[in-house]
Amino acid sequence: MTQASLGESVVQKTVQAQQNNGVAASATHTQPLWLLAEVTYRCPLHCAFCYNPTDYDKHTQNELTTEQWLQALRDARKLGALQLGISGGEPLLRDDIEDIVVEAKKLGYYSNLITSGVGLTEKRIQAFKEGGLDHIQLSMHDITEEINNFITNTKTFELKKKVAAMIKNHGYPMVLNVVIHRYNIGHLREILDMAEALGADYIELANTQYYGWSLVNRSQLMPTKEQVDEAEAIANEFRANPNNKMKVFFVVPDYFSDRPKKCMNGWGEVFMIVTANGDVLPCHSARVLPNMTFPNVRDDGLAYAWQDSPAFNKYRGDAWMKEPCRSCSEKENDLGGCRCQAFLLSGDAEAADPVCSKSPHRHLIDQAIIDSRNPQAVAQPIVFRNDKNSKKILAGELDDRVKAFHAVP
Ligand code: SF4
Ligand code: SF4
Repeated sequence: MTQASLGESVVQKTVQAQQNNGVAASATHTQPLWLLAEVTYRCPLHCAFCYNPTDYDKHTQNELTTEQWLQALRDARKLGALQLGISGGEPLLRDDIEDIVVEAKKLGYYSNLITSGVGLTEKRIQAFKEGGLDHIQLSMHDITEEINNFITNTKTFELKKKVAAMIKNHGYPMVLNVVIHRYNIGHLREILDMAEALGADYIELANTQYYGWSLVNRSQLMPTKEQVDEAEAIANEFRANPNNKMKVFFVVPDYFSDRPKKCMNGWGEVFMIVTANGDVLPCHSARVLPNMTFPNVRDDGLAYAWQDSPAFNKYRGDAWMKEPCRSCSEKENDLGGCRCQAFLLSGDAEAADPVCSKSPHRHLIDQAIIDSRNPQAVAQPIVFRNDKNSKKILAGELDDRVKAFHAVP
């Protein structure tokens, strides 16, 4: 799944979820509003931009059981979680999503299935509807079969269109997520037309964020600044046309900004992620950070994880900051940006996010922007997200490639 699908828009959706469930909007950092259940790392697709960890292969053998997931849902609800994202990998590779949906409904969650569409059948969608699933978010990749199949390393183009129709036929709002990268950014107008033709109510144009596999493939995926500017103008033009009813969410890529994003809306503020093997994380990538131990639902309760674990408390607030963030007048706006991006690019998890123009590491981002114009860098082969490549990364066989993009000492 895509990281941007859990960005700013989620906060808006959470407010909606609160209203739908009749729960007062009393969000504080003492309450995880969002529980993201990454129920499996298995996936039939092999997306070049996947945000799953590049070493996911080591987490595929010890997935939580159905009962462990149901207990996690109950425990998170007690802590105040309102919105449940069921994600992966491809969640539909598990045959207990129906049970998870029923439990989520019983507990009063607003539930959202985040899927590639592979494995969604009439029988399953019927069961989800009856079980009370509120929302399905389908990933699409391009208007052309060629790019869809290339970037996912599968043949899924026709299937996705059929699944989109199925979702619509069952009365769900049609919510599409399209990760934007250099292979499809030139097709934005046509992608919007396609989404309208499919009856989409909402489209999230999620510019690739560079973590996990997308960082390894950054040179191949990153568009130029001109392409991003043009894409944003097209999105704005579409929004400005009163005849267009479909809502467009364009997630601006942080590399082309001079301030970082307030990552996950603040570390340990609203998001709690339980991974396939039960690790409890404040953000998807957090396990890349050094010298940190994350709680696991097999050993620790979610209340301990959220309230008391050293991992969730480590980057809450601003006491951990060093300069230039510590004395920065803007620190409330972004809380210093993303800890994982700071570590992956600079080797220092407590540094200002290198996206910031005040960061001493901003040159790393500027170099990536320069590289996006370099045909030699762009022409390197893509490392697709698959078990074989994950095993290779774990064995250190792709170290040269990985280290070139993870500027870790
Ligand atoms: S490979 Fe693609 S579909 Fe599968 S989890 Fe990653 S981004 Fe999602
Ligand atoms: S210096 Fe730090 S706190 Fe200030 S704007 Fe940059 S990242 Fe944010």
